[in-house]
This record gives sequence, structure tokens and C-alpha cells, in this order.
Amino acid sequence: SSALLQWLQVRGKKFWPVLSELDRRIAEEAAAMWKKHLERDDSKIVDLFSGQLRSTLHCSVCSHYSTTFDVFGDLSLPIPKRSSAAEVTLKECLDLFSQEEKLDKENAPMCERCNRRTESTKRLSIQRFPQVIVIHLNRFAMSRWSISKSTVYVSFPLTNLDLGPYGPVDCGPVLYDLYAMCNHSGTVNMGHYTACCLEEDGWCFYNDSSVTPVSENQLQTNQAYVLFYQRSNSTATVRK
Ligand SMILES: [Zn+2]
Repeated sequence: SSALLQWLQVRGKKFWPVLSELDRRIAEEAAAMWKKHLERDDSKIVDLFSGQLRSTLHCSVCSHYSTTFDVFGDLSLPIPKRSSAAEVTLKECLDLFSQEEKLDKENAPMCERCNRRTESTKRLSIQRFPQVIVIHLNRFAMSRWSISKSTVYVSFPLTNLDLGPYGPVDCGPVLYDLYAMCNHSGTVNMGHYTACCLEEDGWCFYNDSSVTPVSENQLQTNQAYVLFYQRSNSTATVRK
């Protein structure tokens, strides 16, 4: 379909002949869903920040696969639990996010073929990459009675973050560079937000009314909370 071709051209790749029949059908369905979304909601914001998530559900009883697509404005990543004080990497958060998750009968959606809830597995991947991907490190964990904040140190690359491994099969490298970030200091009850942004002369630290230069090696702290990455290996550019 022309929508699919357009979508593939946007990706700037000529990989479509090697896609399997199933991958091609999924790509077509995703493109159709995306088109439908743009009919309802299209803006500069969507052009820059919106992507498409793919959720694949596999029924363990009848082996049926079903795929659903959702538009996302940010990627909320879980932080792996660590017993030691060892640092966690952003890649480990992404791996955990895209890892196959086992769902028991009670928590699984209906299997389309069995027509009932069955033990299933679910996997998330990125079907469509936005120009700017907003990555939320989910530091706030909600338990039944309380909210707690994780202050685990999560390291992240400033350039060449490759999200290709979390995208469609054979999509190749999908590279992003960090251009801004938001920090959260303090506790659940008493917190403070600051930001770091890349300006023409380098990185700046924004703290209420004060703006001060900051060096690259001061960006990575255990207060990093939301990361803004701009796609680097595509033709479109983002207005600052
Ligand atoms: Zn089934």
C-alpha cells in the first residue's frame, strides 16, 4: 500500500523486500493505525514526539499471536532492582522494558482465538520511532500503601544511543543524541526539579531562575529523571 511505502521511505531504508510476509503484514497494519491516529490528532507535537509501541501477545494454549499498537509520547522504563550498589545502565532498563513478560490467566487479556483469558506472554517493542524520544526513568514505585523513590544511578550515553534493537526486525541502527534532561532531587514528599539543556555553547544547568554552564561529565547523576533524545541518523531536524 502507499501508506506502507511512505512509511518505509520515512525510515529511509530499502529493506522491505527482505521483510517476511508476517513482518510486512504487521508493518502495514502499524502504518494503517498510525494514519488513523494522524486523522484524529496531528500537530507539530505529534511530528516530533509521538511514536508507536507494538505489543505482542502470545497465547500459551493455542499459540496464537496477536499484535496491538499504541501511540506513545514518552517511554516509561522500569529500573532493574539491584542488591548491590552497582550502577544500572539505560540499556538494562530498555532490556527490562522489552523483555518477555509472563501473564497468568487473571492478568492476561482475552486470547482472540480461545476467546478466554489464558496464560500468555507479552512483549513490547517500538514500531515507529519519534524524532525526539522522551525517556522517563520510572524512579517512583507505587506499592499498596506508599510511594517510594529509587535513587539508583542509571548511566546513559550522551550520543549514539541505539534503539534499533528495540525496533522492528532488521530496522538497523536507530541513533539518538541527548539534548536535554530533567532531574528530580529530594524525596517523594519534598522534591525539586532542575534541567540540563544543550545550547550552542555547551550544556547549561537550569535551576529555577539561575542558569549556569555545566560540563558533560556532571550530567550523569542519580537524580536523572527524564531524558530527551533527538534522532541523529535521519534527515529531519528538530527546532530548538
Ligand atoms: Zn489462545
